[in-house]
Amino acid sequence: MAATKTVVAPMKVAQISKPGADFEIVEREIPKPNVGQVRIRVEACGICHSDVLTKEGGWPGIQYPRVPGHEVVGIIDEIGAGVSAWSEGQRVGVGWHGGQDGTCPSCRRGDFRNCRNLKIPGISYDGGYQQYMVAPVEALAAIPDSLGDVEAAPLLCAGITTFNALRHSGALPGDLVAVQGIGGLGHLGIQFANKFGYKVAAIGRGSENAALAKKLGASVYIDIKATNAAEALQKLGGAQVILATAPSSKAMSELIDGLGPNGKLMVIGAASDPVEVMPIQLIGGSRTIQGWTGGTPPTDSEDTLRFAELTGVRPMIETYPLEKAAEAYARMMSGDAQFRVVLTM
Ligand SMILES: [Zn+2]
Ligand SMILES: [Zn+2]
Repeated sequence: MAATKTVVAPMKVAQISKPGADFEIVEREIPKPNVGQVRIRVEACGICHSDVLTKEGGWPGIQYPRVPGHEVVGIIDEIGAGVSAWSEGQRVGVGWHGGQDGTCPSCRRGDFRNCRNLKIPGISYDGGYQQYMVAPVEALAAIPDSLGDVEAAPLLCAGITTFNALRHSGALPGDLVAVQGIGGLGHLGIQFANKFGYKVAAIGRGSENAALAKKLGASVYIDIKATNAAEALQKLGGAQVILATAPSSKAMSELIDGLGPNGKLMVIGAASDPVEVMPIQLIGGSRTIQGWTGGTPPTDSEDTLRFAELTGVRPMIETYPLEKAAEAYARMMSGDAQFRVVLTM
């Protein structure tokens, strides 16, 4: 009798075959987890602006074809050898931080977030634009039961970035904190800032955003089309922190004079042109400019998720099926999405 062959059902993935190529939906064999890895049956994956790095080849050393996606929520459906802290059936998330080497100078200090050889899902290995994904345990965070798959996904990158940047910004309850940009990051930043007890000034373009900004928790809305935002912030006493979320270096530069004494411009919007500042703007008032990148799983991710669960902070979302990854990505790139785009499997 002939040996029966195990038939492995293929899965669908949305991949980029080379830098600048369009998305293609292809079938692949379902991958097996290796030592220290788990396989996740993906339920939802957010589309982040940083996915442009994979789509256009903007990150050195990407091996193609590559499946983007670093806002992944799913269920562990197989455990690799040596994995003891996670189990099959557990609901988990994977964000930007996809694993550390554990040996570089930053890791030796426990600063995994700044690992020199940081692994990023969708860049270093295939991410969440697929039905099954393999991830190392260093990348995993547990998802609270009360958060849905689709609403949890953007919290794993956009959420953790705004939450963690704000909670490390030095601002205290009652301080004036401005959030520049009302988009994928900003609409979460306003909510977190409000729940942290700051007086929140939302800075956006056009009067049409005022009502939404207030609804999200801003007590002041500054329309940069109609007002000089730096002057408006100074009238309010000067901002302790300005969370710069929209990737416009020009807009960020124009806000520096809105900082109060010891104020900080916290930069998370990834623009690639220079922020312009005169040293004298920083010296007077002892102001600083700082960048911030997300956080480390599981702690920072789970803190973000639990805080969102506790306070009702939620992303606003548009969903698309995996098959429409190209359309969904284009929607995100258009800047018109309200506000995060999430793929469902
Ligand atoms: Zn991201
Ligand atoms: Zn390291």
